[in-house]
Amino acid sequence: MFDQIAQAVAYQKLNIKAPVTVTIKRLDQIHPQISGNKFFKLKYNFLEAQQQGLNKVLTFGGAYSNHIDATAYASYLFGFKSVGIIRGEELATKPLNPTLATAQKFGMQLHFVSREQYRQKDQPDYLGKLNQQFPEHFIIPEGGTNPLAIQGCKEILNAQELQNYDVICCAVGTGGTISGIIEASSEHQSVLGFSALKGDFLQSDVQQWTTKKNWKITDVYCCGGYAKTTPELLQFMQSFEVEHHIPLEQIYTAKMMMGLFDLIEQNYFSQDTRILVIHSGGLQGRHTG
Ligand SMILES: *Cc1c(COP(=O)(O)O)cnc(C)c1O
Repeated sequence: MFDQIAQAVAYQKLNIKAPVTVTIKRLDQIHPQISGNKFFKLKYNFLEAQQQGLNKVLTFGGAYSNHIDATAYASYLFGFKSVGIIRGEELATKPLNPTLATAQKFGMQLHFVSREQYRQKDQPDYLGKLNQQFPEHFIIPEGGTNPLAIQGCKEILNAQELQNYDVICCAVGTGGTISGIIEASSEHQSVLGFSALKGDFLQSDVQQWTTKKNWKITDVYCCGGYAKTTPELLQFMQSFEVEHHIPLEQIYTAKMMMGLFDLIEQNYFSQDTRILVIHSGGLQGRHTG
């Protein structure tokens, strides 16, 4: 069913003065709502739910989660019911932000929980309770990352890309996307992830999904942490868009591009390295606030 909405993906080779080439794969153009990597992460989850005869999904996210929006929209499109367990009790009494308003518009039932409760999102006890409260729901973890998501993300790179590029770059949140890319990557390739979050925990998170060693994740460009920004980042994002006419957003893709440009400037890559950058989308959040 996901095949119907996958549109042809465009490529853009950046015009930069550097001894390497940088090509952007525009996954942000797959679909206006289920954009970028979320499309690949959801695909096999929805197929599995269908296979199990379920037509309801339940998932978890913060107030700005692209995964929440993508899941709400996919559910709407395929006639599923959806429940979003949202971090932050206090949000229940506030006007919905654009991310949550969009999710609700597409039929998602928002269920706000405290931060303490939210932290239990992977605990069998809590999941059991949710199962009673929301019976017959197919549960997708936070950020959509599970083995089915990784299976989907293995399809991000096609045969030509597995051949024609030396380095694959992507933005990292929960690590599901990069894990799929690593699993699919060729022997001659390396995968470089730019973390949107501060901390080393992603290394071990990704290690549980892959045994390969041809990858690296840096948090040097996370600007202090998830959803945090710096004047330098915002400035970079703006000038990048003016120069290359490719929209970015500040949570994931701008941090990745800023990091990549910095590494290129530092001569991190050897001469003539062919770099493919995965533009993972996330723009539905930016345009609406
Ligand atoms: C969710 C998201 C990511 C992170 O994907 P993970 O699989 O969680 O690492 C990267 N970029 C964008 C635009 C996203 O929305």
